Formats: sequence, structure tokens, C-alpha cells
Amino acid sequence: MNKFSDELRIIPKFVWILAAIQWVCFFSLLFFVAFPDDSKVSHWPAVGQVAFAFWPGMLVAAVILLIGYIYADARRRGMRYVMWTWLAILVPNSIGIILYFVMRDPLPVPCRNCGAAGRPGFAFCPQCGTEMSRACPSCKKAVEPNWVRCAYCGSQLSQGTAPATTTPPPMATNE
Ligand SMILES: [Zn+2]
Ligand SMILES: [Zn+2]
Repeated sequence: MNKFSDELRIIPKFVWILAAIQWVCFFSLLFFVAFPDDSKVSHWPAVGQVAFAFWPGMLVAAVILLIGYIYADARRRGMRYVMWTWLAILVPNSIGIILYFVMRDPLPVPCRNCGAAGRPGFAFCPQCGTEMSRACPSCKKAVEPNWVRCAYCGSQLSQGTAPATTTPPPMATNE
């Protein structure tokens, strides 16, 4: 998992600016326009008014940043980022946002030779053919590190390429 601060860094700068401007507008509108007109709130101490005006804009800013994150995250995953951004904005009750996090593709894995984006589970780089993960010598499909036999063609896999894994203890037989 990537760190939260690293994830925040992918949000485009203009989205941060938009969120900040929006907050200033929201705060000013409440503090300088709405509160002086409100007979109850206008009697509150200034600190209370500031605290009360602070949060609505923060909530909207969080939503704007989340949508900016979806835009950048879908883009780096090679998904249809314009469509997902609109879904996140337009589908009510945050369902578009939730749907995105449920359905998003895995992060691409860069090829160690040419840097082209591949998907986890690719056996070979689609650009240069470099082996990206362990592949079956017979059918060339990607196989998992702990497999002894290929799940696609049944070939015996060489143990040499497999990283050391702890073998489970043999099953106890009831005799
Ligand atoms: Zn490559
Ligand atoms: Zn195979």
C-alpha cells in the first residue's frame, strides 16, 4: 500500500487551488454575508462564528479533492478517467465515488527493461517482451511463485525460479 501522503501528491495542483478558493468563498459568504443577517448567529462570539463558518467549506473541499484524486488515480491506472470523474461528480449519494473504489483496476507494473506499463499477472512486457513475472516454460502463461505445476497446461515448473516459500506441513492422516 502506498502512503496516504504519497496518494495526496497525485491530486493535480489546480484541484487543490479550486478546493482552496471554494473554501474561501464559502467561509466569506457565511461569515461576512449570512451570519450578520442571522439574528441568532450574529450574537455569537467571533470565535464561535469562525468555527461554525470553517467546516462547510472544508467538507466541500474534501469532496473536490476526492474527485481530483479519482481523476489522477484512474489516469495512472490506464482507466477511462474522464468517464470516472464525471461518474464521481454526477452520480448522487457518492455512489459514483464508491463504485470507483470498488471497481478500479490494479496499479500498472512498469517493465524493468523499457518502463512500459504492464498489468500485474503479465508474464511478459507487451512492448519489449522482457519477462515480467514467472512464466510457464511450456505455455508461457504467468504462474504464481509457489506453484509446482502450471495451472493452465499442467507442466512441471522448475523449482529454481521460485522464491523460497514455506511448504505447508503434510496433512495428518487418520490411521
Ligand atoms: Zn518492456
Ligand atoms: Zn503452462
